[in-house]
Amino acid sequence: MRTDITPTWDGVSRLCFRGRVNVMLYRVEGIVIRSMDYGEGNKIVTLLTKTNGKAGVLIRGAKKVKSKHSSLAQPFTYGEFVYFRSSGLGTLNHGEIIESHHVLREKLDLAAYASYAAELTDRSLQDDEATGFHFEQLKACLTSLGEGKDAQIVIHLYEMRILDLSGYSPELDECVSCGNVVGPFKLSPHAGGILCSRCAGKDPGAILLGDGAYKLLRLFRRMDMRRLGTIQVKPETKAELKVCMRKLMDTHLGLQLKSRNFLDQLDKLI
Ligand SMILES: [Zn+2]
Repeated sequence: MRTDITPTWDGVSRLCFRGRVNVMLYRVEGIVIRSMDYGEGNKIVTLLTKTNGKAGVLIRGAKKVKSKHSSLAQPFTYGEFVYFRSSGLGTLNHGEIIESHHVLREKLDLAAYASYAAELTDRSLQDDEATGFHFEQLKACLTSLGEGKDAQIVIHLYEMRILDLSGYSPELDECVSCGNVVGPFKLSPHAGGILCSRCAGKDPGAILLGDGAYKLLRLFRRMDMRRLGTIQVKPETKAELKVCMRKLMDTHLGLQLKSRNFLDQLDKLI
């Protein structure tokens, strides 16, 4: 690499080499949301970074057992990554693990939930639209799963954050059609929120909301993942919540996620 002009720090995290080729050295906190084999012994990871959106980074030799970088290429790893990049893919220079999240890879059910959160993040965000807030939400989601909080609740809350960050947060305070604030309500993903009993006929596919599910949806709509404590939710409320979140996700994002099929299969087994 040409470094004939003195490198200069440009503020927060980047070291700029202003030579013939404009290669920059990035130093970022990131979480591995995708990891795939590449060529002989290498891996390409997709990072959700705290400061630089989504980034693809080549990790040379990551598949080799003795590689000091192999653990950095594992899904869900949270670490500091230092990589060179001119355009397109970066190349890892070195990195340090901050939290390996190994428990999320060792238990089948946790691996399934974490994979879903990671794939959902990857597929719903463009490279440059991911912000520090997205990063904090995913980090908190993985931490909550690792701490043994109710995985279904963690995931539904994360789905709500993704909907919100994608601009599809449902209106849950008043009927989207007439403004009525008195329930019972039905959830109409197509209408973008709840419909009161007078207006429910406008969407035959609207889902009747029980008290518990309605309260949880309203709570989730405003809750930061970092504030999630331990909450007890009845199985029937969770089932209702799942139907609502799935309808909302399918209507607005319409993503075909492999990890969700796997989660569904796992649900049936359990
Ligand atoms: Zn109404």
